[in-house]
Amino acid sequence: MFHEVAHGLGIKNTIDGKGTVRKALKEYASALEEGKADILGLYMVEQLLQKGELTSDIKDYYTTFIAGIFRSVRFGAGDAHGIANMVRFNYFKEHNAFERLDDGTYKVNFDKMKAAVDSLSNLILTLQGNGDYDGVAKLVAEKGKIGEQLQKDLDRLKAANIPVDIVFDQGVSVLGL
Ligand SMILES: [Zn+2]
Repeated sequence: MFHEVAHGLGIKNTIDGKGTVRKALKEYASALEEGKADILGLYMVEQLLQKGELTSDIKDYYTTFIAGIFRSVRFGAGDAHGIANMVRFNYFKEHNAFERLDDGTYKVNFDKMKAAVDSLSNLILTLQGNGDYDGVAKLVAEKGKIGEQLQKDLDRLKAANIPVDIVFDQGVSVLGL
C-alpha cells in the first residue's frame, strides 16, 4: 500500500525546467519510478513509526522489506519492477544493509539499514530531479541484474519446490457448470 502511495511523492518535472522526469529518463523512467515507490514506501513507515501512528518494531519492517526483494525477484528481473528490485538488492548488499552467511542464509544488518534506505532514496530522487539519463543507465547496467550467487540461491528455492506464486483454479468450467 505504501508503495502505491509513494508514487505520489517526489518529483514529476526535472529541476532544469525542461520537462518531465519520464521524458528525460526514457526507457529507464519506469524502473526508477518503481524503485522510488519501493524505497519511499519504507520511508513512510519510518515516519509513521516516529509519529507513533505505527507502534511495531522497525526491525520487522526492515526484515519484511528485504524478504520482499527475494520474493519479487523470483518473477524475474526483466521488467521495471524486477530491475528496481535488483538495483535495490545490489545497492543494499554493497552498503552492508544485509549479508549472506556461510550457511547460505541471509542476515539483515539493522544498524546499517537506515543509512542505506536514506542514501538510496537520495540517489534515486536526485537522478529523477536532474533527469540524469546517463546516470540512471549506469546504475541499471551496474546493479540491475541478478548476480551469480543470488541466482544459485534462487535455484535452491526452485529445487526445494517452493512456489513462486499461487494460481487458483476457478471459474465455471472448474465447477463443471
Ligand atoms: Zn509501482
